[in-house]
Amino acid sequence: MENDGNQKKKKFKVIPPPYRIKMVERIEMTTKEIREKAMEKASYNTFLLPADLVYIDLLTDSGTTAMSSNQWSRMMLGDEAYAGSKSFDRLDGAVKEIYGYKYVVPTHQGRAAEHLMSRILIKPGDYVPNNMYFTTRRAHQEMAGATWIDVSIDQAHEPTSNHQFKGDIDLKKLKTLIDEVGAEKIPYMSIEANINMGGGQPFSMRNLKALKILCDKHQIPVMLDGTRLVENAYFIQQREMGYKVKSIKKIVKEICSYTNGATVSGKKDALVNIGGFLACNDEDLFTEVKSLVVVFEGLHTYGGLAGRDLEAMACGIHEMVDDNHIAARVNQIEYLGNKLLEANVPIVKPIGGHGIFLDAKRFLPHIPQKYYPAQALTAALYIVSGVRGMERGIVSAGRDPETREERKPKLELVRLAVPRRAYTNTHMDVVAEGIIELHNIRKKISGLKMTFEPKQLRFFQAQFKPLKNELIQK
Ligand SMILES: *Cc1c(COP(=O)(O)O)cnc(C)c1O
Repeated sequence: MENDGNQKKKKFKVIPPPYRIKMVERIEMTTKEIREKAMEKASYNTFLLPADLVYIDLLTDSGTTAMSSNQWSRMMLGDEAYAGSKSFDRLDGAVKEIYGYKYVVPTHQGRAAEHLMSRILIKPGDYVPNNMYFTTRRAHQEMAGATWIDVSIDQAHEPTSNHQFKGDIDLKKLKTLIDEVGAEKIPYMSIEANINMGGGQPFSMRNLKALKILCDKHQIPVMLDGTRLVENAYFIQQREMGYKVKSIKKIVKEICSYTNGATVSGKKDALVNIGGFLACNDEDLFTEVKSLVVVFEGLHTYGGLAGRDLEAMACGIHEMVDDNHIAARVNQIEYLGNKLLEANVPIVKPIGGHGIFLDAKRFLPHIPQKYYPAQALTAALYIVSGVRGMERGIVSAGRDPETREERKPKLELVRLAVPRRAYTNTHMDVVAEGIIELHNIRKKISGLKMTFEPKQLRFFQAQFKPLKNELIQK
């Protein structure tokens, strides 16, 4: 699975996107002085910056998609009936056709589906195994009283490992957990497609099949985080034996067939600005979700969304499995990643499906983890280039719910997530230039101390101050 040499020799080929641009949105370049002031005012947290002071916004690829002309026209057909809307039928049909699950409940976004699933399936004292963690998914597992257990392979935590399927489950770790706590204490196996915190890394079909067999043996349902399922399917198509000839649509369906249900944020692969859903094959779970969704989201045929949002998501679900679309999408990330690798900027390898991840531990070896190197690097990148990214390291990892100690993840990263269909490769050139400029002055960047820490998902609103007078020394 390790084929470092191979990748280097291959010449990079640009795959053009299967669309042209019909409408544009103006963005403004600011000066370094303006950005320095803005970053200080935002307490060195890029979540607290006003968006109009950002030139190229790679904070997240969530809800930042450019919708297609088809999606916009379908929004006019949104059926806003409170109950039994036609737009729900079209979403229900799209999920059944593309994912293949029997039952569908819309939610306003992914974490709402995670909330419902965790509340229904988890009892206090349970254990939920995961391939690494996603922030909202783990938060809902822990708030429902479960202990989060990482059963990802060791290579997932090694930024320099070129393992092709870092999203794989270490089945030995899972077996050990089952032996230690008993299958009845494991309400479900949580598996995330194209693990976000690991750098946008896929699991293999081979590993998923083996996982399903093991879980079936112990009657543990496999619940997918299908938010980045299409990107994962693309890597399976490109990297796994026997899948080159299969369409993304077929691979997506095959993945789902080895799972019992999924929570999905429509704001990523499904190409919408808002929306999500929970889908499953178990009728009892469906019944429980339907009765809980009315308390937190809305009736089970709209789940907190307008009819037009259901309509746009139904359309996006069909568009996301277009082979040409996903090839161009991932290729754009590779275009950016290769430029950085050529300039010896330390990034997570292999290049991920939704963004590139700067390795702050190697970028800023002079800043110990307790002074939040990835947070400092994110802030410095904005000041130098006007590009906005997000910390994915010790700040995002938060605290252990029992000991209240800071979790110290091996990966200390800055994520630059590329919105779908929104930027051109020329923008990627500008991003690469900014990062390379920052890399040249890296020794001048200082660490941060935290001055305000929110109770939940602290990375969104935490505030910081530079250890020295300025973040970037003159
Ligand atoms: C974004 C995301 C979620 C949460 O979805 P929201 O729509 O932001 O609530 C869950 N899992 C993964 C992998 C994500 O990337």
